[in-house]
Amino acid sequence: MKKFDFAVIGAGIGGLIFAQLMSKNGKSVIVLEKGKHLGGAIQGFSRRGVTFDTGAHYIGGLDKGQNLYQYFNYLDIVNDLKVERLDEDCFDKITFDSDGKCYCYAQGYDNFIRVLSRYFPDNKADIELYVDKIKEVGAQYPMYSLNINKGVGIKLKEKHLNLSVGDFLDSITTNAELKKVLAASNLVYAGDNTTTPYYVHALILNSYLSSSYRFVGGASQMAHRLAEQIVHNGGEIRNLAEVSRFQFGEGKNIEAAILNNKEKIYADNFVSNVHPAVTLDMIPEGKIRKAYKHRIQSLENTYSVFSLYIVLKPKSFPNLPYNLYHFSDDDIWAKNNSKEQWPKTFMMITQSHKIGQKYADGITAISPMDFAMVEQWAKTKHKHRPQSYLDFKAQMQDRFLELLEKKYPGLKDKIDYIEVNTPLTYLHYTHSPRGSLYGIIRSAKDPLRTHIAPYTKVPNLFFVGQNIDVHGVLGVTVGAFLAAGLFLDLEELLRRVAE
Ligand SMILES: Cc1cc2nc3c(=O)[nH]c(=O)nc-3n(C[C@H](O)[C@H](O)[C@H](O)COP(=O)(O)OP(=O)(O)OC[C@H]3O[C@@H](n4cnc5c(N)ncnc54)[C@H](O)[C@@H]3O)c2cc1C
Repeated sequence: MKKFDFAVIGAGIGGLIFAQLMSKNGKSVIVLEKGKHLGGAIQGFSRRGVTFDTGAHYIGGLDKGQNLYQYFNYLDIVNDLKVERLDEDCFDKITFDSDGKCYCYAQGYDNFIRVLSRYFPDNKADIELYVDKIKEVGAQYPMYSLNINKGVGIKLKEKHLNLSVGDFLDSITTNAELKKVLAASNLVYAGDNTTTPYYVHALILNSYLSSSYRFVGGASQMAHRLAEQIVHNGGEIRNLAEVSRFQFGEGKNIEAAILNNKEKIYADNFVSNVHPAVTLDMIPEGKIRKAYKHRIQSLENTYSVFSLYIVLKPKSFPNLPYNLYHFSDDDIWAKNNSKEQWPKTFMMITQSHKIGQKYADGITAISPMDFAMVEQWAKTKHKHRPQSYLDFKAQMQDRFLELLEKKYPGLKDKIDYIEVNTPLTYLHYTHSPRGSLYGIIRSAKDPLRTHIAPYTKVPNLFFVGQNIDVHGVLGVTVGAFLAAGLFLDLEELLRRVAE
């Protein structure tokens, strides 16, 4: 009977990074992925030769010496990623239909202040204060600053945990327009002004302000490069290997993961990249306290999205060097999106296959959508859903296209092919409850209850992925290193990352 040091369940970026860390450090690992493709939310897909991203449209901190660069360098993938730097003076463009106004986020702290102050000349000091504050958060967490002299691990400071992003912005400025602009990219953290903790906003924005890059040819390349390294280090990766439950030994430990086909995979440790609420359902009754399971399973999850994937006619639309965040009205918080008014807002990127391409191959546009809008079809099967669901998709596609057409008149004529994803698609591919974008909501109102540790009440079961620490490529990377630190010397690991 073959027994691994680690069985990792799920080949999302969190599972793959953890597996790579362990295989690089001499441990035997197997990754078990239910799907055909690796990457989970970042797997992407191709239509008519155009590769589309389903998650991870842009990443920050990828300049040499910055945090994500250093992590990816340690993971042996940084040199093999095909990425393109977004516009220095405008990596995020923010536009409002209501007043026709347009704002840009620029890369680099000073540049960000310089560009934003042009729109808000009377609030330059507020913008400087904003930048100081978010830099301060980044600097206080060694896993983000990679300054290990301050100790390792994540100990969230109370003042960052309990402060909501709305309250933080209120403390920065009284200018309502500036507050709106500073929080306009809140789709990257499924923000809610009253509950999203300030540190989530600060760590993410800090990363993008340091530097902002887009993948050329799809974000799934991160998954493929990690998989190559894992195999190179002697690890095993199996797709179409869905874990249905865990088998316990005599004591309190898990002995094997049981696949859908009843095959048993034995390991000393089991590391789940699957949403914690779903993972705990794989544990037989009586092996875990009901109160613990209930606590995790009752936590609320972030909203989902509806996505449009457009293959463009050749040379019909420019390859935009920025992400567009567009709002129909002044309300930037997606939680206020009602079914009748959907879609009020969207985020859009262009897709290309070559660095520096003049024209785009495709467009990906996403708009927040509550799972309730598709709930009636939740029990139907992927690819076999009823006509009513297909009609719903077509109707939402038309509404979304109308909004895009309003922003870019003539766009409809440039479309060669179009496909959509709904929250049910995300649920199917990632098993994230209700197709949730980023998993469990961290709440400034209840910070301790909504913060999930990488270890569990089962001694040899651990969590990695977006529900630990912070979501997104950087957050999940940090979380995977934190989980690895339960087995390896974290300080030494970070020293090597920082080198
Ligand atoms: C639309 C969208 C846009 C985003 N944009 C950005 C962005 O611009 N920048 C950024 O940094 N981040 C972005 N993110 C967030 C980022 O993509 C995610 O936080 C990250 O990819 C989540 O990774 P994860 O490791 O938690 O696992 P997931 O990607 O959720 O993967 C979990 C894996 O587990 C597998 N699995 C589930 N159940 C089982 C089972 N029983 N057995 C075996 N395998 C199983 C799934 O198939 C999946 O492969 C975006 C996400 C989405 C959805």
